[in-house]
Amino acid sequence: MTTPSNPSIQNTRSDHLIYLVDDDPLQVRLLAAQIGYFGYSVIEFTTIEALQEAIVREAPAVVLMDVIFPEGDMAGIDVIARLRSTIPVMPPVFFISGSHDFHARIEAVRAGGEAYFSKPVNIGAIIDALDRVVLGKNPEPYRVQIIDDSLIQAKTNALPLQRTGMQVSIITDPAVMLNTLEEFNPDVILLDMYLGDYTGLELARVIRQMDAFLSVPIVFLSSETDREKQLEAVGLGGDDFLVKPIQAAHLISAVTSRIERYRPIRNLMYRDGLTNLLNHVSLKDRLEKEISRAQRQKSEISFAMLDLDHFKAVNDQHGHAVGDRVLKSLSHLLVRRLRASDVIGRYGGEEFGVILPGAGPEQALQVLNEIRESFAKIRHQCGQTSFGATFSGGLTSRISSSADEICLAADKALYQAKKAGRNQIKLAE
Ligand code: GH3
Ligand code: MG
Ligand code: MG
Repeated sequence: MTTPSNPSIQNTRSDHLIYLVDDDPLQVRLLAAQIGYFGYSVIEFTTIEALQEAIVREAPAVVLMDVIFPEGDMAGIDVIARLRSTIPVMPPVFFISGSHDFHARIEAVRAGGEAYFSKPVNIGAIIDALDRVVLGKNPEPYRVQIIDDSLIQAKTNALPLQRTGMQVSIITDPAVMLNTLEEFNPDVILLDMYLGDYTGLELARVIRQMDAFLSVPIVFLSSETDREKQLEAVGLGGDDFLVKPIQAAHLISAVTSRIERYRPIRNLMYRDGLTNLLNHVSLKDRLEKEISRAQRQKSEISFAMLDLDHFKAVNDQHGHAVGDRVLKSLSHLLVRRLRASDVIGRYGGEEFGVILPGAGPEQALQVLNEIRESFAKIRHQCGQTSFGATFSGGLTSRISSSADEICLAADKALYQAKKAGRNQIKLAE
């Protein structure tokens, strides 16, 4: 954190806003456009003064800063070091430089630079770093399921957790817990020991018999001090045993540490290693769920299958590692441009699946075409050269069928798009 030496300067900070500073107007224009395709708003600056004027009014999420300016070979670094001691909210800074000089890198680190990119920059690496800094601050909130027959008890335990930003769902009637658990998909379950007709141990057995909850942490909450009962609970896959009444701080730390250990394991099972999107199996699962939800709520839903065009040629010409970066950049673009309620998965090698709940065919077609056009404009860097890539898509909005049938329909439409010349989205008949 910076300690402002001039308290009269009050600037505010905007998420998703990027300041890009480079004295070469052409560079600025090109890079700003590239970053813009990923959903960031970029403001371009070609002089150091212009940056200084803007940043004291409003700080962006990140400053992308050239190093060499007419003022000097280190002018970009010097100004950041100066700003850091004068403005109260100093955003993270990434330096972008034509200089591969060790001295420049050291000075950049000393000025608090979080990253250093050499020109020509690889757009994928910049977006990776931006996403890490910008999105990393808003991770998916932790989801805690409390199962307790006393609503008052449950609410008492929920409150401190909610205050730290966690999402809490309360079940007071275990007879209806199955649907709620599936919908809410908790990161941890806090389970009371005695709930009317049922014991917590019985409920834990039922939960553990569901595939989706084989490994979700279960923490028993009880006034039970019987040592044997506790051991039995732990033997059943209960991860911990908290004795009521529980101190808020103890509850928060017990829940947090369980979730921190569980999330990476869950990610391994449900997510794809390269893109961190849902893997094939979990995408199909979600599609199944979203279809039945749409049918229940009589709402629209669309599903699209996207496949990179001539991707074998990309690998052949530029190498597999560069191919991987192209896959990541499409994944980034989808994550950034679709809504939080949309579901994105890696369906296969260079195929992606997208579920758009609430979207009919026209709306889905429009958003996918916007993404398709943006993607086609991205220049992927390979050594000193760059190249473009495109994808095709097949879309279906029928919800009266199974996930398998929907995938098949999308796949057929995708084949039509390929046959019609690629770089387009086709709607299934
Ligand atoms: P089309 O336009 O018809 O889809 O042509 P294509 O070359 O993209 O299709 P094809 O199915 O013949 O080739 C897919 C290629 O995608 C082959 C494979 O090497 C590549 N691929 C699949 N998974 C990955 C991956 O994880 N990383 C990289 N770099 N390439 C992958
Ligand atoms: Mg392909
Ligand atoms: Mg393919």
